[in-house]
Amino acid sequence: MLHIGIKHVDITDGFWKKRQDINKDVTVKAVQNRFLETGRFDAFDFTNEKIAHIFYDSDVAKWIEGVSFILHKERNSELEVFIDRIADLIEKNRSDDGYYNSHFLRKPEERWQHRSDHELYCAGHLMEAAVQYYKATGKEKFLKLMEDYADYIYKVFITEKSAAFKTPGHEEIELALVKMYDTTGKKKYLELSKHFIDRRGVEEEPWIGSNYNRYNTQDFLPVRQQRTAEGHAVRASYLYAGMADIAYRYKDKELLAACKAIFSNIVKKRMYITGGTGSSHLGEAYTLDYDLPNTKGYAETCAAIALAFFAQRMLLSDADSVYADTVERIIYNGMLSGVSLDGKAFFYENPLEIQPVLNNRNVATTLTERNAITQRKEVFGCSCCPPNVIRFIGAINEYIYSYNKDTLFINQFISSDLEYENIRAEIRTEFPNCGKVYIKVSGVNKVAVRKPYWCKYLKLVINDVRSKYSSKKGYIYINLPKGQNRIRLEMDITPRLVYSNPKVYDNSHKTAVMRGPVVYCAEAVDNDFPLNNIVFGKELNYKTVKSDQLDAYMLDVDIKIPQSIDDLYTFTPFKYRKKTLRMIPYYCFANRGETEMRVWL
Ligand SMILES: [Zn+2]
Repeated sequence: MLHIGIKHVDITDGFWKKRQDINKDVTVKAVQNRFLETGRFDAFDFTNEKIAHIFYDSDVAKWIEGVSFILHKERNSELEVFIDRIADLIEKNRSDDGYYNSHFLRKPEERWQHRSDHELYCAGHLMEAAVQYYKATGKEKFLKLMEDYADYIYKVFITEKSAAFKTPGHEEIELALVKMYDTTGKKKYLELSKHFIDRRGVEEEPWIGSNYNRYNTQDFLPVRQQRTAEGHAVRASYLYAGMADIAYRYKDKELLAACKAIFSNIVKKRMYITGGTGSSHLGEAYTLDYDLPNTKGYAETCAAIALAFFAQRMLLSDADSVYADTVERIIYNGMLSGVSLDGKAFFYENPLEIQPVLNNRNVATTLTERNAITQRKEVFGCSCCPPNVIRFIGAINEYIYSYNKDTLFINQFISSDLEYENIRAEIRTEFPNCGKVYIKVSGVNKVAVRKPYWCKYLKLVINDVRSKYSSKKGYIYINLPKGQNRIRLEMDITPRLVYSNPKVYDNSHKTAVMRGPVVYCAEAVDNDFPLNNIVFGKELNYKTVKSDQLDAYMLDVDIKIPQSIDDLYTFTPFKYRKKTLRMIPYYCFANRGETEMRVWL
């Protein structure tokens, strides 16, 4: 299986065209300005007195990569001049051996001494940026600089073994080196990626600070023996994505078995309904099975994105819809909530419940509890998430189509045109706001369409004839006659009540609502009654209401709430009264000021 790249796929209209336009027209500039103000770009010219933070290179690199995905479709000389200058500065300021790091070039004696300090992570992001910038523009300079850097890293970690550590404290370079291999054809980059994966957990390595143990950096066992998702959730899923890449390219069954077990552990026991992972802010980490607290839920935007990377790569080895289902869960929920509707502000954490009152309850002390922020911010001290959103939305084209031998796979329902070798395809849809998907396809006789996990009823019409179908591992395989064919899917996106495994403590006796893949939430700004103690009927009675302000479909749902009482406690059972609960898509929350929000009700 291969995923069909952005070069071959145009997003034409609908939900993602709007998001990509905001990404291109607003978010790129907004993040660029915040990074200029905070000295992230200046770090590359080495004139600042202040030494750059250890992860500034990665922030800039992700921004460049995001811009590059956009440049595939629309060249922009102003942005290219800006990026070319960064490549020039890297060339000017790097060491003779090819090494580049804005922080450690100012402290040369400390190079490769601190496993926790993101050196290989920054290198990996610079490589990803260089690969995409080259693919979008054909300009080789940045890529050549990163080839020199990768050659040098190979020498340090494989030939000379001269660094104070064996594997990165923050994984990322593993998947970046695979992209370097795919782009340059140099096998040594694939070997280096595999080397970092195979060495991890084999021997004791420096921890990344005294507060963390070997779980935080996924070192507790050799990766082939790991079966659960552990530690820092972004590190973890970047590593797992790299493992899935290596398993696919080396046809490594043992590594693939580890990937499958870990993926299964995540989606069955450690993932929020929104696709968020890493439920604790302590170590930004995975914790225990079913430990998915709502107000304290961390669910970093980058962790959602990293899990989508992992899922997408698993699909290469295993045509099972669970992987594209997971990507879908993430892109319409826990990734998209990371950016405001206007494209200017971001959440780092994406909890499933916000209670602003928690910030005001400690009236007798000047001490403060740690709670998730209630409003998005334009930039963070650690601003990994904003440019990650830019590159992910910019690259959404790459999540739609895959090809395997003779079969075209349709993984996501996104309005788009495909031109790949002799294959032409066209998807037109208002999904996820509507369940109808119109597909035209020619140049291929077999098409596999994902049947989503949430879809109870799907009608399939091929060339105007209603067709029976069966699905294998969640894909409907369709044989088509020669010539151009039309496929129509009518998926039932009727809102559904969702129940949680009772082992999730925070969700006891609670219910959520999904419409198609979109998770809904309730905000106090829409409802003049408390959002706890809401009782849904057995069936969901609702009206769908279009919101121009949110550019989304809201739900007005019939519910009951208990009567209010004066006593703190009572022996009298409650009487309930009927109310209408307004719900909005989770990805729209916190766009209308600070207000209480709940997914599980
Ligand atoms: Zn982040």
